[in-house]
Amino acid sequence: MAMTRLQYLLGKLAEECGEVAERALKAQAFGLEETRPGTSTNNADLIFEECNDVEGIKKMLADEFGMDFTPCPVQIANKIDKVNGYYFYSINCGMCEPEGGEIKSHGN
Ligand SMILES: [Mg+2]
Repeated sequence: MAMTRLQYLLGKLAEECGEVAERALKAQAFGLEETRPGTSTNNADLIFEECNDVEGIKKMLADEFGMDFTPCPVQIANKIDKVNGYYFYSINCGMCEPEGGEIKSHGN
């Protein structure tokens, strides 16, 4: 059975999120400034491009199907706190190197 337009766009959203993940993992392995041989586009640029691809699909879903992607400051703040909490836990587990930068919660 053929997909609906909504199903197609949801698949594209998943695809583009996967491409963000791929680029992020490349940057994790090789650094933000690394470029593929024969190109001048670095991993940071590629993450930016893929995030914009995600934004394009989000706009299509919002425009065509009324999906609400308005950022929620409370959910964002909660996510930042959660990620930072797990970051410190990872440091305590010996899996991350502590860095000099100060980690601030959303309330700071
Ligand atoms: Mg893409």
